[in-house]
Amino acid sequence: MSPLLPVADALAAVLARAEALPREQVLLEAAAGRILADSVASIVDLPPFPSSSMDGYAVRAADVPGTLRIVGRVAAGRPETRLLREGEAIEISTGGVVPGGADTVVPVERVVARPDEIEISEATVQGDNIRRQGGDVHAGDQILGAGDLLTPARLAALAACGIESVMSRRRPSVAVVVTGTELRAPGEPLAPGQIYESNGIMLATALADVGARVERFGATEDSEEALALVLERALEADVVVTSGGVSVGPHDLVRRVEAQLGVEEVFWGVAIRPGKPLAFGVRGRTLVFGLPGNPVSALVGSLLFVRPALLALQGHPDPAPPFRPGTLAREIWPRPERDDFVRARVTWSDGGALLDPIVGQESHMIVHTTAADAIVHIPRGTEVLAAGARAGFLLL
Ligand code: AMP
Ligand code: MG
Repeated sequence: MSPLLPVADALAAVLARAEALPREQVLLEAAAGRILADSVASIVDLPPFPSSSMDGYAVRAADVPGTLRIVGRVAAGRPETRLLREGEAIEISTGGVVPGGADTVVPVERVVARPDEIEISEATVQGDNIRRQGGDVHAGDQILGAGDLLTPARLAALAACGIESVMSRRRPSVAVVVTGTELRAPGEPLAPGQIYESNGIMLATALADVGARVERFGATEDSEEALALVLERALEADVVVTSGGVSVGPHDLVRRVEAQLGVEEVFWGVAIRPGKPLAFGVRGRTLVFGLPGNPVSALVGSLLFVRPALLALQGHPDPAPPFRPGTLAREIWPRPERDDFVRARVTWSDGGALLDPIVGQESHMIVHTTAADAIVHIPRGTEVLAAGARAGFLLL
């Protein structure tokens, strides 16, 4: 293996090739989790009219306290067209249009109501319980910007502002190819030497989570013919993610077959642990990731490189893994030659996140990994990190 590439250089090389996909108009219904390609402005004032924030009576503040005649009723969606005059009150529901002439709403709890009149004993302040037209946003004002992720609240804001569809980037198609003659699907019996295939579901889930349209290919045996057949189809996707077969053994054929299919390798071998033999290449605009087969290595590789690439393809303004600062609960000895991504349990306290490495850090130990909430970045070559030292972590 050629000299190992530092993790930051590897990520930069990936992101340099992950150009945003073409734009497309997306109905709000299908836009959850997507990233806006353009800023969006409201097409209405919100609220679109002065509306009542309470169930009560629309009145003139100058008439209160006093006894007022009920001259009409306003339900939400059913405005009253008559103007309110001196000495009058109009019953109003929350969300109802405050009638012309009224300047205040007195909540129903603060009036004594009789069939045709109400009595209000306390004074009120002009404007009370009226939501101003445009108090949330004015028509034409920008509500969201390019690069914003569409969360539930933002989708609601778009809908409230009358937006039916938004401009986004095409969602990347991702082919997940797991390789290894030893792999069987859960539900099948295991013959000697076989293991259950677990990377497929992990990668498919992790990548669908960031907007990918994932196609999974069944486990492919370690032969050039079988791999060529599957990879040829897989290479039609925007992104190909393989697991296994990228190390230095005689059955590690993925890179060779990909080269035969026209994939240009950008790098192979990253200075990380776990996941060192990770490969990355391109064919045209298709990005091709070769993750190692050990499940924890595949997980770490997908978090450090594949997810960021998928975000970049969708126009995310800051696609790098969102590491944040925490504090080590125990002493750690960094390795001289590779950055370590240590699986840890996070506990939260006033001091922030406390990171406690789990027992079972070997890269085949996917079951031990379930005890971890985070991966902690331990840069290579630094001195011993004592308990209490700061370290970046990524939530799992
Ligand atoms: P490889 O990268 O192909 O050398 O595989 C490294 C280790 O990961 C081997 O022990 C494989 O059996 C195991 N492995 C490879 N692919 C998978 C997979 N999809 N699910 C679970 N284990 C795997
Ligand atoms: Mg293998």
